[in-house]
Amino acid sequence: MTSGHTVGLMERTLILCKPDCMEKNLAGEVLRRLEAAGLRLSAAKMLRLDAKLLAEHYAHLTDRPFFPEIVEFMSSRPVLALILRGPGAVAKVRELLGPTDSRKAPAGTLRGDLGTNSMLNIAHASDSPENAEIEVRRFFRSEEIPA
Ligand code: ADP
Repeated sequence: MTSGHTVGLMERTLILCKPDCMEKNLAGEVLRRLEAAGLRLSAAKMLRLDAKLLAEHYAHLTDRPFFPEIVEFMSSRPVLALILRGPGAVAKVRELLGPTDSRKAPAGTLRGDLGTNSMLNIAHASDSPENAEIEVRRFFRSEEIPA
């Protein structure tokens, strides 16, 4: 229950630098901003997402009309998956990321400064510590996850 990773003091979160971020050559900029905010990089890897994994990751959206487009977009090129850690990491990264629609995201947020619209929005970040733990395990094998 109270492993060092799930308490706020040293929380971890899962980030995906999405295909638009990779295509725009902005993965370094995303990581730079997250590190500058005090988060620490725990693990990183490139991977190409497939429809099965995306249906699991975006299970809350599978019945939405734009779901096939999300799958097409998210599988269009490899993404960079990151595990970042730090006190309150989940909320901190969501704050730095901004709201889903890049056009409504404030200046200074990753999506506001770098994103395009509701779909092309630069990065995914876990929305709760519980989901962060699930997502870390979804995208990384156990031997790739630092203790
Ligand atoms: P978030 O990524 O901000 O947590 P959601 O979980 O609601 O947001 O949505 C997951 C992803 O699905 C978004 O980041 C975006 O890429 C895509 N998406 C969400 N809503 C829309 C929409 N209305 N139109 C197009 N794509 C969307």
